[in-house]
Amino acid sequence: MTSVFFGFLHLYGPQFWSSILASYPKSVIIPWGTFIISQVGFWFWVSLLAVLDLCQFPKSFWRYKIQPLKVPTWEWYRKALWVVLQNQFLVALPSSFLLWKLMDLRGNPVGMELPTVWDLSKELIGFLVVEELGFYYGHRLFHHPKLYKRIHKKHHLYTAPIGIAAIYCHPIEHFVCNLCPLALGPVLMKSHILTLWLWITVGQTNAINSHCGFHLPLFPSPLAHDYHHEVFNKNFGPLGVLDWLHDTAGSREMAAEKKQRELAATTQAQTNVQAVVPDSSKPNVKEV
Ligand SMILES: [Zn+2]
Ligand SMILES: [Zn+2]
Repeated sequence: MTSVFFGFLHLYGPQFWSSILASYPKSVIIPWGTFIISQVGFWFWVSLLAVLDLCQFPKSFWRYKIQPLKVPTWEWYRKALWVVLQNQFLVALPSSFLLWKLMDLRGNPVGMELPTVWDLSKELIGFLVVEELGFYYGHRLFHHPKLYKRIHKKHHLYTAPIGIAAIYCHPIEHFVCNLCPLALGPVLMKSHILTLWLWITVGQTNAINSHCGFHLPLFPSPLAHDYHHEVFNKNFGPLGVLDWLHDTAGSREMAAEKKQRELAATTQAQTNVQAVVPDSSKPNVKEV
């Protein structure tokens, strides 16, 4: 997909990009371009998922539902919509102006020269590292009892999440946990704005997929984050590396196995106790 994007970009991109640069100043391209691209990407996926959730169309996709007993309703969407719009217009939009200032300080993010596949590949690795570190530790911080009640509890309203709930959260959480880890990598690596837009599209699509409630073919597995919404104390990170390192990784299968092991241990302990304690029903007579 990335190579198709870059093939397209290098065939038709230079002319298109130079016409954009000739038509708009940086102060418009960076903040407004970033905001518009994230809006289009977000509502594209969320609209498709709303049709799947609410109209149950296509019905055949419902076999991929992760928690089939929890069926999304209009009320779930209505509740999320207002918070999502607030996060987009009152948090993400001002943040994109901050991003413009930061990117400008680091270099020229709207250069005429387009990023190459090599640029993207090495920068993508950096972005993933920053995202994993930023999201994991930010998310764990918000699970601290003092912060959880005030901030993160809102995002955990959906124990069986839906796509739009990816950014159903407190504005502070949206800025610290969602926007900063996503934008920090491109700022640190002095990326081209087109690389940032591609990364935002990938990151946002992944966040929606993680909350969509369906394990759809060809898409990365959303099971880890879906499970986080169910049990709260597992799978804090987006990649799973830090969860593995901090022993916070979990799944429904692991929980079922653990339950079975505990049950087997309890049954064994009860059998041992019965073997040691003498049967009081029998007369306790010493044989001579
Ligand atoms: Zn979530
Ligand atoms: Zn959480």
